[in-house]
Amino acid sequence: MARKKIVAGNWKMNTVPAEGVELAKNVVAGRSEVCECVNFIVCPPFTHLSQVVEAVKGSDIAVGAQDCATEAKGAYTGEIAASMIAALGCKYVILGHSERRQYYGETSETLNKKMAQAYANNLIPIYCVGENLEEREAGNHFAVCKAQIEEVVFNLTEEQFANLVIAYEPVWAIGTGKTATAEQAQEIHAYIREVLRSKFGAAAEECPILYGGSCKPSNAAEIFAKEDVDGGLIGGAALVAGDFLAIGKGF
Ligand code: PEP
Repeated sequence: MARKKIVAGNWKMNTVPAEGVELAKNVVAGRSEVCECVNFIVCPPFTHLSQVVEAVKGSDIAVGAQDCATEAKGAYTGEIAASMIAALGCKYVILGHSERRQYYGETSETLNKKMAQAYANNLIPIYCVGENLEEREAGNHFAVCKAQIEEVVFNLTEEQFANLVIAYEPVWAIGTGKTATAEQAQEIHAYIREVLRSKFGAAAEECPILYGGSCKPSNAAEIFAKEDVDGGLIGGAALVAGDFLAIGKGF
C-alpha cells in the first residue's frame, strides 16, 4: 500500500482571523489544480481554527492545531485542551515543533503527555523531530532524531502509531532559506523509518514522514521524489495559497 502523501501548512503566529479565512478560502479555490492524491492540512493559530474549519467545509482540506495542552482540563490559565481542538472539527495537531522545544522548553516528558491528550481526543499528531546546526555539524543528527523518537513515539501503542505523522525538520533549515538537500532528507528519513521499524515492524512502512525546512515550490519536487519522503511540513510558503498549492504539485 502506498503511503499517504501530505502537505501540511504551519502558519505559526501569523494571520489575524480575516487573513486566515481568506488564505484558507484561496487554498480551497485552487485545490482542484493539484492531484487528489495529496492530502492538504492547514494549521492556523488557535484564535481562528473554528473559522478556518468553516472556510474549508465541503473540501478535502483538513485543519490542525499547532499545539495542545498536557492536561485534559482545569486550572491551566492560557492553555488549550486537545478536546477543545477536536470539538472545533480539527483532525490534526502539531506536537514537538522545534520552536516549542527551543522557546517553551518542551521536553519528551511534556510531549508524552501531549501525545496522550491528542490520542484521547482522536487527533492525529504531527510529531516533529530534528537536529540543530551544532548537532548536525558534530554528526549527531541521527542520534538526536533517534532519541526524540525513542523517548516519545516508542511509548505509543500499535493502534496509536497507525495514526501518526512524523515531520523531520532540521532546525538549521527552518525559516533560514537553507534547505536540506534531497539526499540529506532521504538519508535521515530512511534512518527514521529504520528506527520505527525496530519497534513497530512492518507498520513503519505506512507512517508518513514529512520534510520541513524552507520547503518551497522550487525545491519540493526534488525532495518529494525521494523514497522515504512523504510530503512536507511547510512554514513560510504556507502563507501564500499559490505557493502552498504549488508545493503539492511537487508529487
Ligand atoms: C516549520 O517551521 O515547520 C517550517 C518548515 O518552516 P519554514 O518552511 O518557514 O522553514
